[in-house]
Amino acid sequence: MSSSKGYPRSIQELISRVQVFSLLKCRRCGEEIERSFKKGEYVGKLTEEKCPKCGDKMFVKYIYMRKPRKR
Ligand SMILES: [Zn+2]
Repeated sequence: MSSSKGYPRSIQELISRVQVFSLLKCRRCGEEIERSFKKGEYVGKLTEEKCPKCGDKMFVKYIYMRKPRKR
């Protein structure tokens, strides 16, 4: 009983295990790529990433969390 934060340890562990991803979509051709979420991103934000197909800029289509799979 050394922690007084009030959060159950299991929830903190859960959060630390979850990985956050951003799905980027090309505004021109619709190509989608997935990569790790970067701080400060939000849905609809135009990123610095360029589309591998046409070279246009990509925006954040959505952000999601996923638990790493157990091996
Ligand atoms: Zn494209």
